[in-house]
Amino acid sequence: MRSNWSRRDFLTVNAHLATALLGSLALGGISTLAHGAARRLTRLSTDPFTLGVASGDPTPDSVVLWTRLDQHVMRDLGAGDQAVQVDYEISESPNFSRIIRKGSIAAPAELGHSAHADVRGLDPDRVYFYRWQVGNVTSSIGRTKTAPSASSSNESFRLAFASCQQYEHGYFTAYKHMAEEEFDLVIHLGDYIYERSWGDNLVRHHEGPEIRTLQDYRNRYNTYKSDPDIRAAHASAPWAVTWDDHEVDNNYAGDVAEDDQTPEQLLRRRANAYQAYYEFMPIRLPVGRQGPDMPIYRRLRFGSLMEMHVLDTRQYRNDQACGDGRKLSCEEHQNPARTVLGQAQKKWLFDGLATTDAIWNVLPQQIMMAKLRGVNEAGEQLWPMDLWDGYPYERQELLEHLDTVSTPNPIVLTGDIHANWVADLKLDFDLSTSKVVGSEYIGTSISSGGDGQDMTDYGRNLLLNNPHVKFYNANRGYVAVTLTPDLWRADYKVVPYITTQGAPISIRKTYVTEAGRPGIEEG
Ligand code: FE
Ligand code: CA
Repeated sequence: MRSNWSRRDFLTVNAHLATALLGSLALGGISTLAHGAARRLTRLSTDPFTLGVASGDPTPDSVVLWTRLDQHVMRDLGAGDQAVQVDYEISESPNFSRIIRKGSIAAPAELGHSAHADVRGLDPDRVYFYRWQVGNVTSSIGRTKTAPSASSSNESFRLAFASCQQYEHGYFTAYKHMAEEEFDLVIHLGDYIYERSWGDNLVRHHEGPEIRTLQDYRNRYNTYKSDPDIRAAHASAPWAVTWDDHEVDNNYAGDVAEDDQTPEQLLRRRANAYQAYYEFMPIRLPVGRQGPDMPIYRRLRFGSLMEMHVLDTRQYRNDQACGDGRKLSCEEHQNPARTVLGQAQKKWLFDGLATTDAIWNVLPQQIMMAKLRGVNEAGEQLWPMDLWDGYPYERQELLEHLDTVSTPNPIVLTGDIHANWVADLKLDFDLSTSKVVGSEYIGTSISSGGDGQDMTDYGRNLLLNNPHVKFYNANRGYVAVTLTPDLWRADYKVVPYITTQGAPISIRKTYVTEAGRPGIEEG
């Protein structure tokens, strides 16, 4: 059941709730704790670093280092409601023979003793190793890397992108392989956790029913982080993360829940979910951004080679048209004002795409952008309303904008649909001769959907009906990209099974985009 509140009601509630939550939450806490007193724990008999270490959002001179202290350990030490001092050390070698930087920060109790150190003054394009300390206990070691300086003409960059890791559906074996590759950057496109169970061949289990409270979301992240392979992948490289729907609620749209929640309830839930996301991710969060609104769209620059415009296609979108799912078009669907990005993010994106001077412009986002032509038994066109197909006017505007402002080499990265695809992004998907203005690389899930298979009837049909889609594969895995000024080369890496551990990894297929030639070619 969908709520029938009007959008104006949502806005009012949203404003009130934001004020209330900002007042009660950790806003004051973060700023005072950052320079104020935090308890120094000295002697610990148990490891507080059970969630591992991570880093993210590298710039030429900084990177966010992350850890989060085990809440059982903090409670046992009587520090459950106190800020705790956490120290970090950085070195250029994994044996820490010379420590080039040390620091201390407060891990606030209000944020579950999560520690985010935004370390500045580092050298560009350099590998660093880091570790954390609380009292007499030292964490495992993380490897990270700063971005090349903005003006540098770096010759090569290696990144991986991944999404969708339903814990119950299988093991995160793909992450074990990813960790071994020690990428320059790992991009996560969302569905890092799932808010509920689904499917029937479950190999391990979430606790409890669908999650809603802050404690629920924290417990869920704890469960996902209990997997050693995901911890290894975090420790192997800096990550740039964005969320999809399941970090909050399946197919939520702005403040509209999937099922039985009012917008006010969903906004409270969103505040819980967003706070937990921040607590568990190596991401910068300017003070004042807690609450039901948390802008995470942002740019990351990697020399002259690449600009990343990281998008959020959930928080600001209008509700899925025509009742969601694959549907015939209806009047709502035809409303040209409907948005996925929301006005502020859209303006920010369009401005960035018009002014960028990077060779490659990468849009990490969630939902399939290319049109998916599919028909019902009567031969009528069905539209997947949750994808960009559900917002065809804004998609058209974006594709025409890429063309009009001549954005250099746009590459769209997509998760969400648990399969590997590649697609040409065209001004008119229904016209074979229409201009190709960009390339879409869609990555499969880490685990969602279980073992998977190379081809399905669904995939076969889509390839037949959509000549701009050039590849379909429904194994699990990730995409490894090697980027040079001339070539975007994407190796689709797959594992043959995930319901048991130990699967090998192999390259199923390689696709490339040449600089100056938008679209996909076989590599
Ligand atoms: Fe998913
Ligand atoms: Ca999704």
